[in-house]
Amino acid sequence: MLARGLSREFPNPERVGCPDSSTLRGIASHKLPLAQAVPWFDHLSACSPCFQDFTKLRREAAGQQRRTQVWLAAAAILLFAVGGWLWVRSRPLPHTADIAVLDLRDRSVSRGQNPYDTRQPPLEIPGTAKHLVLDLPIGSKEGSYDVALLNETGGELLRATGMAKVEDHVVILRTDIDIGSVRPGLYVLGVSQPGLEWSRYPARVL
Ligand SMILES: [Zn+2]
Repeated sequence: MLARGLSREFPNPERVGCPDSSTLRGIASHKLPLAQAVPWFDHLSACSPCFQDFTKLRREAAGQQRRTQVWLAAAAILLFAVGGWLWVRSRPLPHTADIAVLDLRDRSVSRGQNPYDTRQPPLEIPGTAKHLVLDLPIGSKEGSYDVALLNETGGELLRATGMAKVEDHVVILRTDIDIGSVRPGLYVLGVSQPGLEWSRYPARVL
């Protein structure tokens, strides 16, 4: 408005009666209210220099709009990527093939030397497992635990520690232990709180 008023007061001698550039720009970008733009339409269709300027500005405005859309699309993709990354990060463990989930809740525990005297089949642990997720028996305490793979004479082949936490009413013990470093076969999985006796579960490494 101000610019337009000024251009009336100080008209460009070569383009008397033409809208000033900010008015043209306002019309081209649809930012000028229609009521203010309409009076110039006749002029634009009749004045070749103005029409050329207008066409150029219109192209620029369209380009600007396209760039904004590209930016918005890029931002949306980035948000999805970051969101997905956070979602993946918030998952308990990264590679499901490396994880063995063992349910010890309904397992009878042998604290003696021979854990094979139960009629339950051994736990099955894939040889590819690098992380164990153990659902501990009901009533287990939260906190630090030792986990070990024992041979038939009770010797420790692998040992790791982990923290047990209640998740959805189940005491879950997570630990990193590379099962791939032992041969497939029958073993005993030992679980205990530090300093206490192993709870022994027959386990087969596949
Ligand atoms: Zn003109």
